[in-house]
Amino acid sequence: MSDTLLRVDGVTQRFGHGEHATLALDDVSLEVRRGETLGLVGESGSGKSTLARAILLMRRPSSGRIEFDGGEVARLRGSALRTHRRRVQMVFQDPNDSLDPRFTVARSIAEPLVAAGMGAASRRARVVESLHQVGLPGDAAGRFPHEFSGGQRQRIAIARAMAAKPEFVVLDEPTSALDVSVQAQVLNLLVRLQEETGVTYLFITHNLAVVHHVAHRVAVMRNGRVVEEGTGEQVMTRPQDAYTRELLESMPVLYRT
Ligand code: ADP
Ligand code: MG
Repeated sequence: MSDTLLRVDGVTQRFGHGEHATLALDDVSLEVRRGETLGLVGESGSGKSTLARAILLMRRPSSGRIEFDGGEVARLRGSALRTHRRRVQMVFQDPNDSLDPRFTVARSIAEPLVAAGMGAASRRARVVESLHQVGLPGDAAGRFPHEFSGGQRQRIAIARAMAAKPEFVVLDEPTSALDVSVQAQVLNLLVRLQEETGVTYLFITHNLAVVHHVAHRVAVMRNGRVVEEGTGEQVMTRPQDAYTRELLESMPVLYRT
């Protein structure tokens, strides 16, 4: 079994045509190894979410290749595609993008389980188990998203992402919309879930301080390109790229190592 779970190879995403075209991704290549967290850092507009959407098959890139567990994702069809959609999940910045306000918590968490073909009794058990995993009581299942705080809603979105026991989760700014006081709790939860399940993360953020706490390796993006890659330690203490140094200098002194 290869060490590499996700391989992005020369991926380019162009929006629009001619001189008005935006090159949101410009020949991006990176690898995420099994069981690790790769932190993807860059300022707003650098192409992070566009890369996430390409990885999650929400948009086909203009060119390049994405491989998951050794297979090219663009070639997946039928049951192989359904299996892939269970193995790879997503947590958005805003939990309201994962949770339909009209649905009970149970229904939202169970959705990927339905898609995976799990029966009703197993689904009910798995929903309660997933809630416990993220530190919420089982009776949250029958309630609605508006009955919870922002931090609790993000826990529910994480429970939904983890319910089908995925191997890879893309976290797109998962704590950026939360109160500072609950950000650390949600980060700790994500780290604990990784320790318990071995799940691999692509952790996207504009905040180098956050990524330093959770990522084994860090890739820095700017204007659609990966400009630097290394361990969190290397990138934070010996940045090779001028842009990374700028990002570091804009961070609160508290977080600098
Ligand atoms: P980030 O997540 O790093 O903030 P995005 O991936 O959202 O950056 O955006 C990267 C660039 O691509 C931006 O210039 C953005 O305006 C552009 N972009 C993203 N999605 C679209 C789209 N669907 N159509 C046109 N331009 C887009
Ligand atoms: Mg984004």
